[in-house]
Amino acid sequence: MLDLTPKTVSERSALRINPCKTCQPVGALYAALGVHRCMPHSHGSQGCVSYHRTFLTRHFKEPAVATSSSFTEGASVFGGGPNLRAAVKNIFDIYDPDIIAVHTTCLSETIGDDLNACIQDISVPDGKIVVHANTPSYVGSHVTGYANMLSGFIRCLADPRAAKNDRTAVFPGFVNPGDIRELKRILSLTGLPSIMFPDQSGVMDAPMTNTYVMYPQGGTPLDDIRALGGCARVLALGGFACAEPADVLDKKCKVPCAVLPMPVGVGATDAFVTAAAEGAGRAVPEELEDERGRLLDLMLDANPYFYNKSVAVYGDPDTVAGLVAFILELGMRPRYVVTGTPGEAFTRRITALLQEYDTGNCTVKAAADLFELHQWIKNEPVDLLLGTSYGKQIAKAEDIPLVRAGFPVLDRYGHSYLPIVGYQGGIRLAKMIADALMDRQDRDCADEDLEVVM
Ligand code: SF4
Repeated sequence: MLDLTPKTVSERSALRINPCKTCQPVGALYAALGVHRCMPHSHGSQGCVSYHRTFLTRHFKEPAVATSSSFTEGASVFGGGPNLRAAVKNIFDIYDPDIIAVHTTCLSETIGDDLNACIQDISVPDGKIVVHANTPSYVGSHVTGYANMLSGFIRCLADPRAAKNDRTAVFPGFVNPGDIRELKRILSLTGLPSIMFPDQSGVMDAPMTNTYVMYPQGGTPLDDIRALGGCARVLALGGFACAEPADVLDKKCKVPCAVLPMPVGVGATDAFVTAAAEGAGRAVPEELEDERGRLLDLMLDANPYFYNKSVAVYGDPDTVAGLVAFILELGMRPRYVVTGTPGEAFTRRITALLQEYDTGNCTVKAAADLFELHQWIKNEPVDLLLGTSYGKQIAKAEDIPLVRAGFPVLDRYGHSYLPIVGYQGGIRLAKMIADALMDRQDRDCADEDLEVVM
């Protein structure tokens, strides 16, 4: 399918081919689904929200509920305020959420709808809430939209007068429900009282019960979001998705924040576990020490298969930074590292990681696309692709093993239930990488070299 991708790389400034990101509202919608009894609302045309819902449903294999202002020509010319007013009334009347989280789209941003003014004008039923965020898709990516929606919740709901409490707010970053479960398990082992915000576990991996529920058990309760204002501290896991919402909370409610890397791999998980244990005023529990030891054991056992293998890593910036840190720990060699999310902070972060190791030449690029990554690979192939499903065509065209991690993974099942964060996530990730490399070796070796015992 991509066999005809040309080898010659030419400079492109106004065109992305096979972009390594999607649009802001997808992230805003996912953030809103992590709030209990929340209805995400897309202020734009029905086509936009169909795309956003479909995208999330394909990754999580779960229905992603959301509503739309259903712009037609009239709203596009005269403004979408009346549509939003009608939508809010209908949503509360028909679907009865506790809160509606409105995000904008390209269209409503381009015509200049003032969402804040529109919402001020709307009569919201007693006890119900409408929050909003601006998420123009021609800026940033779905990660930016996720961060903007979190900031929108905090601006509207976090209460600076909330009673001071000893809880730690944990912003998990743009991760799967399986990752959030793992983070909560680690926090519970360390004994740190916490508020996970947002929390898509129990929503985007709700169990099959034979009964459809529009608002499953999971999601951060509204009272917990209000109580963020009284938390002792924030642990923001991933600077690209969480630093800005943490900053908004700090400015509004004076809650100090520590921005940590997404806890993928040994070092980053150590940082998270240590911060959690210190926050709880306890030693790191033995169970976590043991898990760490098992991860190190696996890394050592399979080292001959990892060592010096070249890897192309691509996806969301926090996830990619975590994956790069981990493959460096495994003794692998990142050769190409790209994200679709713009921002020089990404190149600085990856360059800083690479400087800790001496792994040779590595091309790092933000606001990149997979077409260019493919061209680089055509010029100098790698041993492994590590990233989203969108690398599948490159993997097929170049006959390179692909390990799926990050968002989105559209062509496999079960991945969103299982973590890549924490020591357990590291074990899973290391196993997936070793399996892919060893399967390739088995496929390519001569019959007499096909070993059963490794
Ligand atoms: S028009 Fe904009 S908001 Fe709508 S789906 Fe396309 S990129 Fe996303």
